[in-house]
Amino acid sequence: MRSLVLIGHGSHLNPESASAVYAYADLLRAQGLFDEVVEGYWKEEPSLRQVLRTVQYTDVTVIPMFISEGYFTETVIPRELGLGHQGPVPPQGVARVIGGRTVRYTLPYGVHPRMSEVILARAREAYPDIRAEDTALIVLGHGTTRNENSNKVVYQNAERLRQGGEFAEVHTFFLDEEPKVVGWQEHVKARHVVLVPFFASEGWHTLETIPEDIGLTGPVTVFEDGPHGTQTVYYSKPVGTHPAVAEVIVQLAEEAHGASSQGGDIERGHHDAWSALMQLASDSLRLGEVLVRPADGLYEIRHALDEGKANEGLKTVVTPEGVRDHVRLDERGEYRPVHTLRNLARGWRAVLSAPDLQRALHYLYPAVVEESYAHHHHALRCTPWAATARRQTGIYAKVQKATPQQVETVARDVCGSCLKTRLWADQVLNRTFFAGVPGGIPCAEACTLLVAEVREEISGKAAAAHD
Ligand code: SF4
Repeated sequence: MRSLVLIGHGSHLNPESASAVYAYADLLRAQGLFDEVVEGYWKEEPSLRQVLRTVQYTDVTVIPMFISEGYFTETVIPRELGLGHQGPVPPQGVARVIGGRTVRYTLPYGVHPRMSEVILARAREAYPDIRAEDTALIVLGHGTTRNENSNKVVYQNAERLRQGGEFAEVHTFFLDEEPKVVGWQEHVKARHVVLVPFFASEGWHTLETIPEDIGLTGPVTVFEDGPHGTQTVYYSKPVGTHPAVAEVIVQLAEEAHGASSQGGDIERGHHDAWSALMQLASDSLRLGEVLVRPADGLYEIRHALDEGKANEGLKTVVTPEGVRDHVRLDERGEYRPVHTLRNLARGWRAVLSAPDLQRALHYLYPAVVEESYAHHHHALRCTPWAATARRQTGIYAKVQKATPQQVETVARDVCGSCLKTRLWADQVLNRTFFAGVPGGIPCAEACTLLVAEVREEISGKAAAAHD
């Protein structure tokens, strides 16, 4: 029995940020190669601190869904998962036993050698008539920033593709470092040029800055009277969104796992928590803002304020993914980065089988069942604010300077509309929803939204002090 965990960055502001990770998780789930596929995020829920608690099995492979190695894959993710490892990840990955689970942490998918095949696939999509004698390939990277070391992997892929001999020329250019892509015409001689962005997702760079820097007018742009005559540029989609990345993820997981391992068992604490939840749901359960109850051999979830409403007046969702997509926005269409904020939209119901109910509740309130059950049994460990602040690095390190009053001011604002009780700030929660209190949900550690807001508070105060 094996769990696969895909780790993305996520966002407190942009609901689309997680969509690529969700798409790969859906694809891998449909393939059925793993007993379970779970997503976790730096800036969304389940958070990196929570995600291991939400997996069913004791054999867990964790893959960072990043295009290159750097600050997140080497510092943030290992630290937040509790791997006890910092710095470059060796090719074989890092394996640790954490909370009774064997966790194998791999390199990011973007540095796997098979990404050269994905670049080639993107190039062929953009220009199916590639001929070795008159076609050049440009692999375009972002360039090394404070957080990433993306140039190394761009050079490695270019070298592999050069050796493959499919192109007359293979070039590497970057947005933010030399050689910059703006000067490409000085270096590229071939009449046909395929430009493949080595980026994780479609976004500001691939849709705006790259076309603007180069003067692209669409997927195909003709440049006349350049240093090497007329050249046609075929612009591909980014490599990170190609479906073949799913194959790279599977191979990475297999390489990390090794042939000899037998796989894991069901994790006892997780199993007990969900068994208790299903027992409650078999009667009727109020959990946070929803009502869960049995319905003709299936289960129904609906907003508790919609209790008694006719089914016909509600939008019916029938899959966990449907619930996931529905609860990401509130009634005004605003993004909900923290799922326990009291702004769940009304007007919908979900009808689901027992296994799908569990996955839907996981999407609705990530890690809430596991953490509440642990608290119910006095087994939930809390992390005080000071420890959370001490752990922060990079641009968040400054939250260590926040006074208790500043943290409390921000928490009153941010947490005031959250269902959870702040155990990390010494608030007391005597009974959870397992004991019949619908809003009885523990918060064991300040979430990343609160940390980000504390940073804003300090930055604002600092800026005001300079004015
Ligand atoms: Fe909710 Fe505050 Fe906990 Fe974040 S820190 S999950 S907003 S209670």
